[in-house]
Amino acid sequence: MPPPSAPVSFSMHGIAVSGGIAIGRAHLVSNALLEVAHYQLPEHLLRLEIARYEQAISTVRRDLQTIKQQLPAGAPAELDAFVATHLMILGDKHLSEEPKLIILREQCNAEWAVKLQMEDLVEQFEQIEDEYLRERKQDVVQVVERIIKALLGHPSQVAVREQESDIILVAHDLSPADAIQFKHHQFAAFITDVGGVTSHTAILARSLNIPSIVAMQRARDLIRDDELIIVDGNQGVVIVNPDKDTLGEYRLKQEQWELEQQKLKRIRLNKAVTLDGTAIELHANIEVPEDVVKARAAGATGIGLYRTEFLFMNRREMPDEEEQFIAYRKVAEAMKGLPVTIRTLDLGADKQMNPDTARSCTNPALGLRAIRLCLADPPIFHAQLRALLRASHYGNIKILVPMLSTLSELRQTKLMLERAKLSLRKQQIPFDEDIKLGGMIEVPAAALTAEAFAQQLDFLSIGTNDLIQYSLAIDRTDDSVSHLYNPLHPAVLQLVEMTIRAGEKLGKPVSVCGEMAGDPRLTKLLLGLGLRQFSMHSAQLLAVKRRILQTDVPRLGVLARKILNSGDSDKIEPLLDKLNLQ
Ligand code: PEP
Ligand code: MG
Repeated sequence: MPPPSAPVSFSMHGIAVSGGIAIGRAHLVSNALLEVAHYQLPEHLLRLEIARYEQAISTVRRDLQTIKQQLPAGAPAELDAFVATHLMILGDKHLSEEPKLIILREQCNAEWAVKLQMEDLVEQFEQIEDEYLRERKQDVVQVVERIIKALLGHPSQVAVREQESDIILVAHDLSPADAIQFKHHQFAAFITDVGGVTSHTAILARSLNIPSIVAMQRARDLIRDDELIIVDGNQGVVIVNPDKDTLGEYRLKQEQWELEQQKLKRIRLNKAVTLDGTAIELHANIEVPEDVVKARAAGATGIGLYRTEFLFMNRREMPDEEEQFIAYRKVAEAMKGLPVTIRTLDLGADKQMNPDTARSCTNPALGLRAIRLCLADPPIFHAQLRALLRASHYGNIKILVPMLSTLSELRQTKLMLERAKLSLRKQQIPFDEDIKLGGMIEVPAAALTAEAFAQQLDFLSIGTNDLIQYSLAIDRTDDSVSHLYNPLHPAVLQLVEMTIRAGEKLGKPVSVCGEMAGDPRLTKLLLGLGLRQFSMHSAQLLAVKRRILQTDVPRLGVLARKILNSGDSDKIEPLLDKLNLQ
């Protein structure tokens, strides 16, 4: 018998969104449902197709039974019940028998038959009044996904067999709601077929500090479960089934990267002061209260952006005022008097509370998002403002309002804030009477009228991710236009500078909390444009601090101006390289 042939080695390229190098086993995240093929079968093959379906059902049953047996002793009872429910659904004739009849009737492949059956079942579930039972449709969908994976030959047991730290997730797409769940896991890396460089999923990858690549195009098709892969998050390269030499080379690169990260830790306690003595504030962006631990470990002198919407995701009901108060207070207390800038809800666009039930609209990024959504739903906004105010008694909280585009939105927000304050005063609940209110400048209209906003607000924070999206008309989640997503576009730089200048003129602090703030290549340029406050994910903080420590601000002026006034993006890159050498 010939020896089994070695697995084919190949490499793929995508957009690097989070640095580092990971070497591990691929775990295909199932979205098998999206990719189900439909084809007709000749009559003489239908029996074989039915046998294939029966085989898939047996495989899934075996997998579920193994999972049940392998549940650790201390696992929560719900987990056992969850697997038992899935086994029950699998055994029900609606899934074990009826798809076989569909194969015969429609003369179609098994994947298509079970998908048709699932759609039918989901529709029936949606008619149920009882919310709990209605939600059980998710279980049906998950079981069908398992069946389809088994039909496609994608085993679903990797997560059970292996250490999480060796797992590289390979997905077609991940929503921010999916990605936020990774905060409780320790995967080695993740790669996706689609996604833009500042999509919220990419931002979360950066916050996890694991190598990640998006826009890989066909990774989910070409990579098989359990294959050995290298993810180079610095270069945006994935190598599948590497040979011995390549593996050795990347192990070395991985060691060097880790050494570099260790070295950076030495400046953790250094003050962020430039060579000429200009003091810079370095704050952290967080998504969940637990992120504060990393922020403090990285030496952040405050939280510059707490994206509260993640508290609202992956759940059926909104968190009430009390739950929000507990979360905000936790962050305020953990930061021990340092500033904690909490952003009011920025739901909408790619951040949906429950993607399955999200309202569809043609242009979600231009729709009812962020402050627009809050003003359209006063009870939700009122509860959040009360929770924020109550928490302000326990620390140094500032409120930040996302996506302002008109002063009238700001006036309405202030009225709502006054109403929340009044209700607390009436109940004699303490809060910081002098709480500071800031606005995000992330819509070009707001940047162009930044002075008017600065007059009415205590501070400004530039959300460059959206500012770029809206000024260059590029959907930040769409990889087909991500090559046009350019922080160095002269229009973007001018809007940023205009906002910094408005703050300076009116004596109001201005920070940048978009991804530009965490890119060390842009640190000197932003300093040269007058920025003195940066907020970024903790993982990026030390690399930016190192740049700050090496900078002599007065030397930046001439080149920074030249870059700002250059009308041509292509001329900016070489000028930036020159600036970074100063
Ligand atoms: C931004 O738009 O730059 C920002 C910081 O907010 P988000 O990324 O959450 O939209
Ligand atoms: Mg934004």
